[in-house]
Amino acid sequence: MRSALKDLSLVADYVHRNEERFVEDLRRLVQQPSISAQGVGVAACADLLATMMREAGVEPQVLPTAGQPVVFGQAKSTTSDKTLLIHTHYDVQPPEPLEMWTSPPFAAEIHAGKMIGRGTTDPKGNVMASIKAAEAFLKSSDGLPINLKFLFDGEEEIGSPSLPAFVDEHLDMLAADAVLTLDAGFDATGRPFVWLGSCGILWVELRAVGSDKDLHSSRACLVPNPIWDLVWALASLKATDEKVLIKGFYDHVRARTDEERRLLETFPWDDEAIRKNLGVQELLCGFTGVEALERLLFEPTCTVCGFGAGYTGHGAKSVLPHEAITKLEFRLVADQEPDDIFDKLQIHLRERGFGHVGVTKLGGCEPSQSPATSEICRTVAEAAEKVYGIAPVIKPCNEGSGRLAPWTASRLGVAGAMSGIGPPDWHGHAPNEYITLEHYLKGILFVATIYRDYGPT
Ligand SMILES: [Zn+2]
Repeated sequence: MRSALKDLSLVADYVHRNEERFVEDLRRLVQQPSISAQGVGVAACADLLATMMREAGVEPQVLPTAGQPVVFGQAKSTTSDKTLLIHTHYDVQPPEPLEMWTSPPFAAEIHAGKMIGRGTTDPKGNVMASIKAAEAFLKSSDGLPINLKFLFDGEEEIGSPSLPAFVDEHLDMLAADAVLTLDAGFDATGRPFVWLGSCGILWVELRAVGSDKDLHSSRACLVPNPIWDLVWALASLKATDEKVLIKGFYDHVRARTDEERRLLETFPWDDEAIRKNLGVQELLCGFTGVEALERLLFEPTCTVCGFGAGYTGHGAKSVLPHEAITKLEFRLVADQEPDDIFDKLQIHLRERGFGHVGVTKLGGCEPSQSPATSEICRTVAEAAEKVYGIAPVIKPCNEGSGRLAPWTASRLGVAGAMSGIGPPDWHGHAPNEYITLEHYLKGILFVATIYRDYGPT
């Protein structure tokens, strides 16, 4: 039994013998819509997922949150006391625009070895790979090499608003030695990936009001102009060298470790391709190479995302607008906290004489970062190399934000890592999302290798 586990031949054999059913099960899951942004089919998908977990030998629970349910699952090992928590999601992006799909987004049609459908790669192919890998151990040998827990969020595509409270209320249930997210597909160069962190975010709206109505502009010497108010307030937030001027803004920014620096230096980065992709002649402040990459992954930002006020129609209009609104986004890095930055922003505006400007927090998400030296990072990277025959790209942090493994891991006080099994160019969040059957089936072996190698040898 031990040698069978070591070479995975029984597991691989089981996957091979059950390929058709495994593909059919993925189709079943994709055919059940679960569009969190539109509230379509999510609860029904949670129930279907729980049914499929039970069929695979994983004990499921569908648990309520303030929003969509979480699907939790457990499968125990008789040979290990180590536990890996798989954290991914079962909701999907809206399929629109529908007319751009070559087959209906929830038909899960298979053409030339590709299953086309919303959620095939993000995340249902990944979800099923994590469950089918568990099934292959449970039904082909005498058990799992590690204890598994599964946390499937139903709101990831809308920012996981209910997850912080859910995780805080279920810390014991979720306790694990490490957290792994399986989501999305290989990077654009065709290589598997390991990500170790996510940026945080804080969205804020500033609103300035002058009069209670628009006035003739001749009154501009008597009545404050809310547009100037916001322009001055915004100008106080950031210098022309891009440094944010809010007192204490950088206080909790974590320094880079040696291992993170090494990963940055070996990360594939092509200045010319990046500039072309972004449509600019030069990157901000002239940054290039590792310095530009480091800024992308580790430099917090203050971005004016929108500004609305006054008259911008054809020709001139002599008007003194009564109101101006701007939307700001702060992209945060470990260990900045959205609430702390929001407090500091409010203090900054008050101290600079903008206490009359209304400040509203629109939402946010904490940054998270797991160590590049963790056992789970090493295990996932080595498994990718063993199964795919190619070294993965290890990204110490991802410039996107979200509440996935590194985030959960930091709440649980352990390490986390993210990876995914889909093909490169899987049309993420776009029409004609797909997974190849080859990526799906090989992905099951990739996940099985992680389960085996994270367990005791
Ligand atoms: Zn996803």
